Amino acid sequence: MSILEVQGVNKRFGGLAALDDVNLSVRENTIHAIIGPNGAGKSTLLNCLVGKLIPDSGTVTFGGRSLIGLKPYEINQLGVSRVFQTPEVFSDLTILENLMIPALASRDGAFKLSPFKYLGKEADIRYQSERILEDVGLIDQRHLLASSMSRGNKRRLEMAMCLVQSPKLLLLDEPTAGMSRADTNNTIELLRTISEAHNITFVVIEHDMHVVFSLADRISVLSQGHVIVEDDPQNIKGHPKVQEAYLGT
Ligand code: ADP
Ligand code: MG
Repeated sequence: MSILEVQGVNKRFGGLAALDDVNLSVRENTIHAIIGPNGAGKSTLLNCLVGKLIPDSGTVTFGGRSLIGLKPYEINQLGVSRVFQTPEVFSDLTILENLMIPALASRDGAFKLSPFKYLGKEADIRYQSERILEDVGLIDQRHLLASSMSRGNKRRLEMAMCLVQSPKLLLLDEPTAGMSRADTNNTIELLRTISEAHNITFVVIEHDMHVVFSLADRISVLSQGHVIVEDDPQNIKGHPKVQEAYLGT
């Protein structure tokens, strides 16, 4: 069953058609990769899914509900979360404290956050946060300051901060950009563990073919704002249209 449906989405920036009649169908509990050369429109598409950009035309439905015109926080409340490329954490708080903030906010709605709501719920929120830290492999470091974390661990914490809000759909824009091969492999392992442990659908934009073919159940190839192929990984590698898009011939 498809959880996310994009149909006929167009987005122009002045004279440039960044997205040109884009269709995308993401099945529930799968990892769906979006690949394509630089400037293909991948980030623009992601921004249209999270409400940061509004498509000029076309439909985006999540769980059967239209997302068009909803504010980013409203889309987030429906269960769509974006993991940011640059981890943003509070350096002066511990890893556990960093996680307890979104854990609390997601219960009461991010815009009703108040210290009084926290009273009597600390043990519960702490328990929930610690379970997530176990999943992402940070439980032993939970009392360390976030400022002391390595880049790889910041990525894990950022992922945990999304997971604690119990998203149904997680969107990642080039999660391994700039990482060493070792960190890249750790990230692949982390994403796989999370997708197996939680009922979460992933949409991953990724340049690194090693990552794409290690993780994806399904792949859409974007080129010049258009989805040229959507297929299973084994049919993507040697696909003439994909090779053409990448070689620019
Ligand atoms: P990708 O993520 O695949 O590299 P983008 O979605 O970032 O591609 O960009 C697609 C095209 O749209 C590119 O040509 C880019 O220069 C252009 N573009 C992206 N964002 C804007 C913007 N805010 N204003 C004008 N042009 C943009
Ligand atoms: Mg991009």
